Amino acid sequence: MHARNCLACVLPPYLLDHLAKHGHARLRTLAQNSLALDNQLRLRRTAIGRASTTLATARNTPPGQISRHVHTAESGSQLPGRLIRAEGQATTGDVAADEAYAYLGATYELFWEVFQRHSIDGAGLPLIGTVHYGQNYENAFWNGEQMVFGDGDGEIFNRFTIAIDIVGHELAHGVIEHETSLAYKGQSGALNESLADVFGTLVKQYHAKHSVEQADWLIGVGLFTDEVKATALRSMKAPGSAYDDPALGKDPQPGHMRDYVDTTEDNGGVHINSGIPNRAFYLAATAIGGYAWEKSGRIWYEALCDEGLWDTADFSQFAALTVDVAERLYGVGVEQQSVRQAWVDVGVIA
Ligand SMILES: [Zn+2]
Repeated sequence: MHARNCLACVLPPYLLDHLAKHGHARLRTLAQNSLALDNQLRLRRTAIGRASTTLATARNTPPGQISRHVHTAESGSQLPGRLIRAEGQATTGDVAADEAYAYLGATYELFWEVFQRHSIDGAGLPLIGTVHYGQNYENAFWNGEQMVFGDGDGEIFNRFTIAIDIVGHELAHGVIEHETSLAYKGQSGALNESLADVFGTLVKQYHAKHSVEQADWLIGVGLFTDEVKATALRSMKAPGSAYDDPALGKDPQPGHMRDYVDTTEDNGGVHINSGIPNRAFYLAATAIGGYAWEKSGRIWYEALCDEGLWDTADFSQFAALTVDVAERLYGVGVEQQSVRQAWVDVGVIA
């Protein structure tokens, strides 16, 4: 497994930063606590897996057979915590634990049934999740070996297991980590984030059996409470339109290269500029039509697994790769044309 230079958290740091400055007193404190925990984890990251007993005893399974282990941290920060639902066991009545179990399953199903990939590593890695992490912790993350979910604060953020595509996004980071060493900064980092959104939304669309027209192309619906002026965390269809709220600020994602954000924050805007390749995927998928996982998803998946995807790949190199893969899979036709046009429409290639 490749070493990661950053913990893959679902919430970008600027969002919690804004809340830590502009929320009311309770929200400021909770956002500061969540940020402090994120930083602490970033430093401790390599030690987490080694301390885990479940990880040491959970066995890889034969192809097509899923193995889930959902734990509770009981508001603490010990990982993986106490096992509350292993594969095949009945529902627990704990909403977060049962959602985590179901959505780990939905993610496995997309990768196995559509791409014939047996779990994150392609070799049956058990899927391990921990819910109720920390007190009112406002984040979820993939630590390189397992998924971790906070309960949220109940005012701005609901529990982090609520959105199937967030679970899919985080597990996709695991897949990406196994297939590439895409550097987690600048454009390669934004590609990393975008690929996680692409497979996250494919998990959601495949689970609902939604066509490209039926899909909402939003990431994280339900994560924000009704108190917040937000429809979701991100929009792949219209980047920059997901939220605009006094406590959170405005969704900063661009959907075109002319609005590319040059910043040193967020590892060079990895959660910001991912809006550009996200919209390219949306445009390609809707132009090709049907179910996104069948053709456009296949093209993006093959590009992710292609040896030509270098760790420093920028948007235009990835764009060229997807155009090549589309031709390899479907010849010179509507698929390749649509992929090419999508990247032209977001200003990545001429
Ligand atoms: Zn991510």
